[in-house]
Amino acid sequence: MDPIRIAIVGVGKIARDQHIPAINGNAAFSLAATVSPHHKGPEGIPHFDTLEELIESGPAVDAVALCTPPQVRYDLATLALAKGMHVFLEKPPGATLAEVAALESRADKVGVTLFASWHSRFAAGVGPARAWLAERTVKSAKIIWREDVRVWHPGQAWIWEPGGLGVFDPGINALSIVTHILPRPIFLKAATLEIPANRAAPIAADIQFRDTAGAEIHMDLDWRQTGPQSWDIIVETDAGTLKLSHGGAVLTLPSGTEHNEDLEYPGLYARFANLIRGGRSDADIAPLRLVADAFLRGNRQTVEAFHD
Ligand code: NAP
Repeated sequence: MDPIRIAIVGVGKIARDQHIPAINGNAAFSLAATVSPHHKGPEGIPHFDTLEELIESGPAVDAVALCTPPQVRYDLATLALAKGMHVFLEKPPGATLAEVAALESRADKVGVTLFASWHSRFAAGVGPARAWLAERTVKSAKIIWREDVRVWHPGQAWIWEPGGLGVFDPGINALSIVTHILPRPIFLKAATLEIPANRAAPIAADIQFRDTAGAEIHMDLDWRQTGPQSWDIIVETDAGTLKLSHGGAVLTLPSGTEHNEDLEYPGLYARFANLIRGGRSDADIAPLRLVADAFLRGNRQTVEAFHD
């Protein structure tokens, strides 16, 4: 079977750190081109400043991976779908829920694959955590996602703008895990969003969710963490405590701790290839819906201005 010729659109941090190595490591794909206004891709790969230029004068491509900020993704995805390309969306899949629904129905009409990727669902501990929880009763859960924005998002102006999600940009990774491993749906009961006086998006958030059986789930997001960082999910069950740490990579069960190899982006590309070969799409918006509900229902508090 011929490899799927794919173009990366948006040669930023995640494209360089993860997408290029994952594509190069998967024989189902060949990297045909890169597109980005300012940054070029790997030496020897045809590069274009815009997707329009690639379409007009570039090599043929079967698929695009949109690694841009979410605010510009809808227009790029619409253009790619109009040309019959399969589309891989980085997380979060869009800046609004309705645009993701529109893309899904467009992909369906065109007969190509739309993949709303959630890389944290492919972290090593997540699959086993889901399987373990499927047979237990959840009593409560805690999500603690505290990191230093200056370390992880230096100079990313888009992340503070409307649609950039602020602290929910990493927080949505926790929600992608929680919506995947907990056996029951969860919904938001209350939220407080702390928004710096000079920014449009939250730097911290405190959120109370509940599952449909009444179990309380508390989420603590903070971008002002210095020192040790926390990307932890702790679930109390009738059979003891489950802990996912390091963003889902390390799973601790009452029986002990499992350390497995990190295969998030190779896992995503294997899934994208399977979806394309099977003629299917996967556009789960559950994590983005919970974030939208936090903006819809949360109290907003203005806090001290943030400077990079
Ligand atoms: P980033 O470093 O700011 O890179 C985004 C890139 O998008 C920029 O380099 C920019 O290209 C390009 N871009 C902007 N508008 C474009 C357009 N209209 N057409 C083509 N390219 C365009 O951001 P990032 O950290 O890689 O994050 C990108 C997405 O990946 C976000 O949704 C984020 O949540 C997700 N993600 C990030 C990480 C991470 O660790 N950073 C992890 C997982 C997922 P130029 O520089 O050439 O102008």
